[in-house]
Amino acid sequence: MNRAVVGLVVAVVALAAGAAKPPSDAVVLFDGTQKSFDANWTDMKGRKAKWKLVDGAIEATRGTGDIRTRREFGDVQLHVEWQVPAKLPPYDMNSGNSGVFMMGLYEVQIFESHETDPADMKHPFYADGQAASIYGQNPPLVNPTRRRGEWQTYDIVFYRPVFDGAKCVRPGSVTVFLNGVLVQDGWPLEGPTGHIRRTRQTKPPSDKGPVKLQQHLCPVRFRNVWIRELTETRRRAR
Ligand code: MG
Repeated sequence: MNRAVVGLVVAVVALAAGAAKPPSDAVVLFDGTQKSFDANWTDMKGRKAKWKLVDGAIEATRGTGDIRTRREFGDVQLHVEWQVPAKLPPYDMNSGNSGVFMMGLYEVQIFESHETDPADMKHPFYADGQAASIYGQNPPLVNPTRRRGEWQTYDIVFYRPVFDGAKCVRPGSVTVFLNGVLVQDGWPLEGPTGHIRRTRQTKPPSDKGPVKLQQHLCPVRFRNVWIRELTETRRRAR
C-alpha cells in the first residue's frame, strides 16, 4: 500500500470511529484545561504560552505570538478543532487567519472561507490562502468550511520529507480532512511554507519538529487537539 493510501485509511478509520474522542494511542495535546495547555504548549521561545483559555478552548491572543508543542513529532495523524469568531470586522486579510504548522514548517491554513470563498467574485481571495490550503502551494479540493462561529475539524495525516544528505529523496506529504471531507489528498510538499514566493525543498533541522499554531491578528480558537505518531514499525504491522 503506498503512503497516500495508508494515510487515507488511517484518517478514514479515525473518522469512522468518531473523531471527537481521542483514540487510546493518542497523545492528547489539549483537553480543554489550563493544566493540559501548560503541560503541552509554550511560546516560540519555550516560555509559558500566553494564549487565553476561553470556554474550554485556547484563543490565539493578539500580541502573544505563535505557540508550539513541547514535544516534537515526525510522521503523525493530528486532530484539531478550530473556530473563527462569529463576528469579524469587514473583510480583510486577517479574517479568521491562523494555521497549523507540521514540524513547525509546513502550514495547513486556517481562514474564514465560508463567506470568503475564492470562487465568489464579490470576495476575491487567493485560492492557496483559503482554509485547508497547503498555504501558498495548493488549494483544497473543495470548500466544506462551516459558517464563522461554528467549530471546524481538521484531521491531518503528515509524512515528513526524507533527505539523503542535502538531497530530498522523498518529499513530505499532507492529507487533510476538513469537517470529514477529503480536501488534500497526499499533497507532496514543495518545501517549507513561504509567503508570496515559491518554496523549495530544504532539509529540516531535525527528523521531528513541534506542532505550531499561528497567531495571525485574529482570535481563532482551538480545542480537542490530539496526535498519533505513525512509525515505520506500526506501518509494517498493518
Ligand atoms: Mg495562516
